[in-house]
Amino acid sequence: MFLFTDGSRLSNADAVAGAGWYGHWGAWKQESACGHLCLPKHEVFDAEATAAYEGLKAAFDSAQAPYTQNVYILLDNQEVAQQLQGSPRGSSQHTILAFQEAANAWPTRSLRCQAIQPGQVHVQWIPGHAGIAGNEQADEQAKKGARSTPQTNTPPARYGWAHRTLKEEFWRRFQAFWAENAPQQYQDLSIGLDKQPHELSLPRATLGRLLAAWSGHGDFAQYHERFGHEDTKLECSCGRPKTPHHFYYCWKGHKASPQPWGSRQVDEILRSKSGTRDLHEWLQRSHFYRTICSAH
Ligand SMILES: [Zn+2]
Repeated sequence: MFLFTDGSRLSNADAVAGAGWYGHWGAWKQESACGHLCLPKHEVFDAEATAAYEGLKAAFDSAQAPYTQNVYILLDNQEVAQQLQGSPRGSSQHTILAFQEAANAWPTRSLRCQAIQPGQVHVQWIPGHAGIAGNEQADEQAKKGARSTPQTNTPPARYGWAHRTLKEEFWRRFQAFWAENAPQQYQDLSIGLDKQPHELSLPRATLGRLLAAWSGHGDFAQYHERFGHEDTKLECSCGRPKTPHHFYYCWKGHKASPQPWGSRQVDEILRSKSGTRDLHEWLQRSHFYRTICSAH
């Protein structure tokens, strides 16, 4: 018997997963198993593992089971295929272990015809979307499962799902916190949160200048005055006070190297990816903070 199993997950906000299986038997590919399950709070991985387990149970119950020697379980998820044959790690361990127990019990099944050898359950990975008919049917079943109404006794949430949901929830709350509690300068620049902030790809020296400009904590006149720093130079060599935005206005800086800002405002230079890149290159060329607006 060839048993195709598949998992699927809807891509909307409260995504639900589905498990599907489809089995055929003999040279004439007679349908021997076909079904699906709706699995809320499951990831695709979990749905794939459940599909293999439920599919195998359906194979046991099929009308052809007494006349079947080997069951070949075919699925297009490599990670799940590996774990079904080895040690489960992470999500859905319970389901994978239950699958292995059922697979080991196959040769000793009670309904086997005497003429049929005990046989074995084999797990085999197959490429997805390769036009293999049985696999397409299992995929269809899995999608049907994800779209269907959950059964009354839905299996409990899986670890993989909980892990992702927690991470998303943490991020949502942190964003809400940041929206209310970000320092004023950050709010003025509308610097939000980014999981991969573009400025982190800047060289350290420029990143330092950028963070100083954002926070106002740096070699700036106001900052030194506020904290009573003595023995600091409060003016740029052009005579104007050092401020986070002075690089943009300083005539000496402009003379040292033509500024690439164009029509962009200083806020945009400090905020955008292209702006910070241009700032970095201009700082390199003009030596602004090293010679014109230096600390001492
Ligand atoms: Zn200046």
